[in-house]
Amino acid sequence: MKRSSMDSRLCGARCRDGSSCTRFPVAGSRRCRQHGGLNTGPVTIEGKLKCSRSLIPGRKVGTKLRTPEQREAIAAAKLQRRVAWMERQIRKQVRAMEWERRQRVANGFPLIDKTEPDKEN
Ligand SMILES: [Zn+2]
Repeated sequence: MKRSSMDSRLCGARCRDGSSCTRFPVAGSRRCRQHGGLNTGPVTIEGKLKCSRSLIPGRKVGTKLRTPEQREAIAAAKLQRRVAWMERQIRKQVRAMEWERRQRVANGFPLIDKTEPDKEN
C-alpha cells in the first residue's frame, strides 16, 4: 500500500489514475477541495428527504455482522429520527411564515398570499 493512502491526514480519495489523492483535506472534513471537502451534504428539506429515501439498510461500514432484521431496524429508527427532524423544521418554517404574515398585517403591508392570517396563537 502506498504511504499516501495510509496517512489519515491526507485526502486519500481515489484519483482517475488509480492513485490516492495526496492533497490536504479542507478543515473540518476528511476530503480535499477537489474531492468534495466543501460539500455540506443535503441542506434543504427536499434534499434531506431525497437522501433518506435512498437510505439502504446496513450500508454503513461496520454493520456487516448484523442480521438483516437488525439492519432493517437500525435503518427504520434512523429514518424515523430524520422524519421527526424534518417535521420540526417544517413546523419551524410554518411558524416563521405565520409570524411574518402577522407582521405584515400589523404593519399594513399587503399579504403575499391571499389566505387570511391565523386568528389563534
Ligand atoms: Zn483529494
